[in-house]
Amino acid sequence: MLIKIKKDACERYLRRCRKYKHASNSGWSAVLSKIEGKTLEVETKHLFKDQYNTVPIPGVSDKGLRVMHCDVEEVIGDIRLGMARCSYCGLTTVQGESCSKCGEMSYLEPIDEYIKAKIDEERERNKGRIKIKVDDGNYVYRTPNFMQVGNFQQMWVRYNGGAYLVGDGDEYIRGPESYDTIFKLGKQIENKYKLK
Ligand SMILES: [Zn+2]
Repeated sequence: MLIKIKKDACERYLRRCRKYKHASNSGWSAVLSKIEGKTLEVETKHLFKDQYNTVPIPGVSDKGLRVMHCDVEEVIGDIRLGMARCSYCGLTTVQGESCSKCGEMSYLEPIDEYIKAKIDEERERNKGRIKIKVDDGNYVYRTPNFMQVGNFQQMWVRYNGGAYLVGDGDEYIRGPESYDTIFKLGKQIENKYKLK
């Protein structure tokens, strides 16, 4: 799990200090100016909803740093989805299970709000489109089109300047949950079906 620090993290920190009228820490702003724009590895034993511990950073911090989410541009490989943190003993646990250390459930707090918000954002941005895995292992979002072939409909999408079936062509949209399904790009459709 990695975090990419905002390019202007130091400036943002100083701005926050001015806004909330507390003195800035020159040591911390010096540290921020060294790590801004960098991608750092997160120490995953102790996870939080709005901050991150990093592993030691040579030349910056022997123990690692505590970075606030507001200074983070992107979380890569976020493993917090479905996880909770015990506010009593600080351990990360699967949501819905009791804490593996103290055995309690009442201190558990979900820590996946940012990753959930990101998923919702992606879903909102791609409303009405389906997610398709293409040959190179990447994903694309496309608006599905349908054509009548005999008694049934085939689903196709535009891709790379051509028209392609989705899967074997007999895939269909089964309500809103289809938008969480990953479809496969099928074969290119003959010219006669090509885009009008
Ligand atoms: Zn606990």
